[in-house]
Amino acid sequence: MKPQPTKLFGTYPQTQGGLYMQRIPIFAGHITAGQLRELARIAIEFTNAMPLHLTTRQDIELHNVPQSHLQTVLDRIEAIGFSTYGAGGDNVRNITICPCCQFDSSAYDVMPLAELLRVHLQDHPIRQDMPRKFKVSFAGCKQSQSRPYINDLAFIATSTTTVRVIGAGSLGVKPETGIVLYKELATENCLALTLAAIELFKDHGNRENRRKARLRHIRQHMGDVVFRETLDRYFLRQKDACSWPKIELPHGRAGFQKIATIQTIAGDINPRHAQKLSQSVQKANAHLCINFHHGIDVYAAEPFALPEELRSFSDLPAIVACPGNTTCTNGLTDCPGLASQLSETLKGNEKYRGKIIAISGCPNNCAHSAIANIGLAGRIKTIDGERQEVYQLVLDGDNGITDKLAEPVEVVTAKDLAEHFLGM
Ligand code: SF4
Repeated sequence: MKPQPTKLFGTYPQTQGGLYMQRIPIFAGHITAGQLRELARIAIEFTNAMPLHLTTRQDIELHNVPQSHLQTVLDRIEAIGFSTYGAGGDNVRNITICPCCQFDSSAYDVMPLAELLRVHLQDHPIRQDMPRKFKVSFAGCKQSQSRPYINDLAFIATSTTTVRVIGAGSLGVKPETGIVLYKELATENCLALTLAAIELFKDHGNRENRRKARLRHIRQHMGDVVFRETLDRYFLRQKDACSWPKIELPHGRAGFQKIATIQTIAGDINPRHAQKLSQSVQKANAHLCINFHHGIDVYAAEPFALPEELRSFSDLPAIVACPGNTTCTNGLTDCPGLASQLSETLKGNEKYRGKIIAISGCPNNCAHSAIANIGLAGRIKTIDGERQEVYQLVLDGDNGITDKLAEPVEVVTAKDLAEHFLGM
């Protein structure tokens, strides 16, 4: 399908007239050195070297693309093997996969299964006229970094030929994590189940109110029991209509290790840094994978030194931040500013290693604050007659690995947060 500059192909107008954001779904987060280099080149040529922005669904966004260059940018993106169909709008979004399962011999490599699904859905007519977006993820073990409990449909490998299916979860102002839909499903039935879930979604989705239009709202409306029964009926129909061959999942490749994570601040990587990363990865024959917390994981068979200017990024805390009031019309607080301040304060701090901090600029939870180990949701509060940016602090979420949401603890003013983190 020829890409066009529309939301369906990931092109969104920015608040600054004449400028656009172009989202590029990176399937499973895997990007080659050559592809990263070309995206950096595009950013330098057409966006005045704006940073490449990593999203929490393993996409990359280009910001400040002038309208006059949109089609050229889309064509260049297509030329390096990326399809932007479904990057935005009411469609099946980028299929996400844990970054590690291809390189972890104790996990199942779900890539072949996800790839079959991606190819099958690529131009499938079922993707047209959907009530809202639909998110699918895969994981190779139960440590699932791909956040199964906040996806519409998530497959977690349980053996070489079976997966557990979680579904009908999403966040937003009133977050609701998903439920187990099938404890064990044969891999060859994943396509039929996906088509069944989308069909159910299209038949029953709320087309009047976009805030209540996700698959989980259908589940909430029907109740879990009726929802499961209804899905099962759609599934049986699809199973008769479509069949996949038996699919055996291999284990991840032995002999690879994670060399480093390039942890960006608020998801932004300068295109010159991206070019440096691309060069060193190519030289070392290493692999890049965008993770779920604004970072790029680097895997290789042998350790190698990253370029000097990138080394400091591997010591930053894992902080996810939405744009907040810097560009989002709903944004109440400056999330990138806070992310930058916290990154500086918590750099190298062992207490925060392995923890995900998520900062959302309003209660919509776009940074996944409601499931984070440490979540912050911004709002404005009048204190001593002065309007101040404050954050609701929530703790101990499970990052979507289970259904556990983070618990509200207290409200802290933005200016006191860095100090607060040091005392926590
Ligand atoms: S959480 Fe709020 S401020 Fe942040 S991107 Fe979402 S809607 Fe915008």
